Amino acid sequence: MKYIIISDADNTLWDTNAVFEQAQLAALATLAERGEDAGNLGLKRLRRVDLLLTQKLGKHEYDFEKLAIGLMLAADGFEDERAVEVVAGNGTGTDPERVVAARRFGQTFRRILSDGLPPLLPGAESLFRWLKLELASVPRRAVSVLYSEGDATRIRRIVREHKLDQGYFDLTEIVEEKNVAALDRVATRGRDILGDEPARLICLGDSLSKDIAPAKSIGAITLYKPAGFLGRETPADPSQEPSYRVDGLRKALQIISSLVASRD
Ligand SMILES: [Mg+2]
Repeated sequence: MKYIIISDADNTLWDTNAVFEQAQLAALATLAERGEDAGNLGLKRLRRVDLLLTQKLGKHEYDFEKLAIGLMLAADGFEDERAVEVVAGNGTGTDPERVVAARRFGQTFRRILSDGLPPLLPGAESLFRWLKLELASVPRRAVSVLYSEGDATRIRRIVREHKLDQGYFDLTEIVEEKNVAALDRVATRGRDILGDEPARLICLGDSLSKDIAPAKSIGAITLYKPAGFLGRETPADPSQEPSYRVDGLRKALQIISSLVASRD
């Protein structure tokens, strides 16, 4: 059996959460500097409003001006859920001071996201070294794919700066939104590299809803590795139950390498 190894990037291979946190703190400080009460709401509250917005808008990289306005509404006394409903419906308000504050918040947020280099997570280098050897082996047993959603410019820059474009992945696939159809297309591209031989999918990620459930629905072996951003998630239903839970990339590599080495 051959394998198509598909790995998520953000918070699976590198610590995107660290850069987001830095961006969030700096953006919050711009509100405080302008005398906005929202600047004193703290990181925990910001992350709650951010999480609600990502759920509402379906992506993590949205117009961060919306987050600023949401926080300003929260500081006015709106419940977080209500504040998010208002901004998601384009209710940015007309107060020119607030519009300027939101723009500055958004610019600061985006600048740090686009300049910051998230560190690789422990065990990533071992995984990459193994992938490189595996991809160079003859006959070929596996194809590897870096699979991410989000801002393509940001992700390609991280790949370049960490030198991950040097033989670790056959494909780098960046999609607007991860779902079953997108994963299925990526798997097909992986199969094209292997030719006609049957291949099983192995999918690794830190999100039960974005990584595990879609992979499971197309028959993949799934490895769930919790990370700082989402924390240790609990499956909402059996469709999110992973084949394996691992506490880090070293354990993930052990499982993946033994699957690939097995003669089934
Ligand atoms: Mg991720």
